[in-house]
Amino acid sequence: MSNRTLSLDERLYDYLLSVSVRETDVQKQLRAETAADPMAVMQISPEQAQFMAFLVTLTGARRALEIGVYTGYSALAVAMALPDDGELVACDISEHWTAIAGKYWKLAGVENKIVLRLAPALQTLDQLLAQGQQESFDFVFIDADKTSYTAYYERALRLLRPGGLVLVDNVLWSGAVADPAVSDQDTVAIREFNRQVKDDPRVVLSMLPVGDGLTLLLKKQAGW
Ligand code: SAM
Ligand code: CA
Repeated sequence: MSNRTLSLDERLYDYLLSVSVRETDVQKQLRAETAADPMAVMQISPEQAQFMAFLVTLTGARRALEIGVYTGYSALAVAMALPDDGELVACDISEHWTAIAGKYWKLAGVENKIVLRLAPALQTLDQLLAQGQQESFDFVFIDADKTSYTAYYERALRLLRPGGLVLVDNVLWSGAVADPAVSDQDTVAIREFNRQVKDDPRVVLSMLPVGDGLTLLLKKQAGW
């Protein structure tokens, strides 16, 4: 028994997957195709995707926003969990990677729920705000360029309804955030982001050692 989060060796991780992950064939195929890409490590793990889908279901989210799509695995899990009239606005700058995403969204029959915005995400978020979409989203997943995390977070909070949920990925950054000898731009940006949200009175916070570290932030609403 342990009251500290376990570090998972291969055997225990495989066990966790075998007794909990429920992937469709399309999800498996998308992971298999992405595995051949040199940047495949960017894809979230299947148990993280399932956890995010669980949160979408739990919160009854209808409108979701994703910042950082890559080949579309996280978006696929979220879109599958949204109701039929739900919508996921998916932001990325890569035509190449999102073309792969689009293929699998279609195969899974969720392409009608996903609106892909191919542009720098800050531009897209500012457009959404300029169009008056403040407080219209229930769920936001931040997983693009790490040096923009704080800027994405600030916009995400404005786009979220009170009580809405933001998830932020890679907050433990393979452990580099806790290593004072590491000071590259991405590590410094994630460290700064983590420091800021720790004391942010606008949100309720939980950081989980899932995948590469996942922070959950609930935008406070009246009475919280
Ligand atoms: N969520 C994805 C998944 O689980 O499969 C992984 C996303 S990957 C870590 C980061 C993505 O952010 C890449 O696809 C990259 O093209 C995109 N990206 C980088 N800079 C961006 C920017 N300024 N605006 C929008 N997307 C950006
Ligand atoms: Ca990530």
